[in-house]
Amino acid sequence: MKLGLRYAADRLSGRRGTRLVMGNALVAQLFSSALKSGVLFAFETRVAQLSHDAGSFDVRVRSKQSEIAMRARNGVILAAGGFSGNTGLREQWLPEHGAQRTVAHAGNDGGGIGLGMALNAAVEVDHGSNAFWMPVSTLQRADGSTAHFPHIALDRAKPGSLAIDVSGRRFTNEANSYHHFCEAMLAQMADKSSNRFFLIADMSFVRQYGIGLIRPTARPARRFTDSGYLLRATSPQSLAEQLSVDSVALEQTLIRYNENAERGVDPDFHRGESALNRHNGDASTAPNPCLRALDLDDLCAVELTVADLGTSAGLATDDRARVLDRSGLAIPGLYACGNDMASMMRGAYPGPGTTLGPGMTFAWRAVEDLSSSMTASQCHGARGSTTAGNL
Ligand SMILES: Cc1cc2nc3c(=O)[nH]c(=O)nc-3n(C[C@H](O)[C@H](O)[C@H](O)COP(=O)(O)OP(=O)(O)OC[C@H]3O[C@@H](n4cnc5c(N)ncnc54)[C@H](O)[C@@H]3O)c2cc1C
Repeated sequence: MKLGLRYAADRLSGRRGTRLVMGNALVAQLFSSALKSGVLFAFETRVAQLSHDAGSFDVRVRSKQSEIAMRARNGVILAAGGFSGNTGLREQWLPEHGAQRTVAHAGNDGGGIGLGMALNAAVEVDHGSNAFWMPVSTLQRADGSTAHFPHIALDRAKPGSLAIDVSGRRFTNEANSYHHFCEAMLAQMADKSSNRFFLIADMSFVRQYGIGLIRPTARPARRFTDSGYLLRATSPQSLAEQLSVDSVALEQTLIRYNENAERGVDPDFHRGESALNRHNGDASTAPNPCLRALDLDDLCAVELTVADLGTSAGLATDDRARVLDRSGLAIPGLYACGNDMASMMRGAYPGPGTTLGPGMTFAWRAVEDLSSSMTASQCHGARGSTTAGNL
């Protein structure tokens, strides 16, 4: 009640609620602290050009209204979010089957990496995976727009769901991290075993946990079934027909899954055995929080595709976030962090925070290194000077 009332009161005076949690709270605190420290922010503005000149940088900054030349006396930190939004770089650096879809911010168009490369920076493009991946389901809205739902943790690992490929068989442990789940999809696509994937559940699963864009409900809205986002069937054969998969194989897969689920084991893919699997499962389901049998008379499915959530390949840096040139030497005053910096994980995915953890750490390292080379008075008045007016 208190939350509801607070939200209603906020909406009387503003466009959104003012109670911030999780990432919103982190970023709002950072923004508020930066404003209090006198940091200048320019929205809808991009750095278009960067050149190095006698220990400082000339920066051309473009907004809708104007283009401004600035001089960065002490250094520049590139943090423009990697290349998820750059079609050319995606085709060059990502595997063919992963290059089609992204759920990252569209503005991350490789501009930062390009600015670094223009200054002879080296790029690392030989990671185990040059991006971090997420399975997504896609809804075509009536107005023609599309919505991608990232299947992060709300449904894949919950008891009573499984994923299949076009053969009608399971291909991986569905409760693994989204990155590893997608790596399994990409491997299937690379060896041409399959190019389509589906997450299957029954309607009591949807009632309890929801599936994709559908929140937990007994009656999914008609737009989900009418658009083909949610397919429903009263038998494995009918589901197989709708998915265009082998019906005998699908039935066998479901029967085997159910038999093993009754015993709480997954001899095929070991679902529910790791701490991450169990964490994302449902602790109230025993003996295995990731497994329970499906009702084969009330099935449903959504189609999954691979999308990247951010890129791993990027500008080569050292442990102080200094950008390295093609001979491995630090370019004085040039730093990179976030997804502009080649990920220290080199495409491996150890767990949640794989991009944000290093992003914050190396932003700190960059500022620490930059400020150690500045005098105290420079630190207090460290804004770049503009030669063509203020933003
Ligand atoms: C659904 C989803 C869930 C995720 N969950 C996690 C998670 O649990 N843990 C985790 O670690 N990561 C997670 N990530 C990934 C993480 O959010 C991103 O990798 C991270 O935000 C990238 O940070 P960044 O600072 O590099 O770029 P961003 O935060 O994207 O910021 C880059 C900014 O630079 C701007 N820009 C681009 N070009 C220019 C230019 N030329 N001049 C000026 N500005 C420019 C862009 O417009 C953008 O605003 C998730 C991502 C998604 C999509």
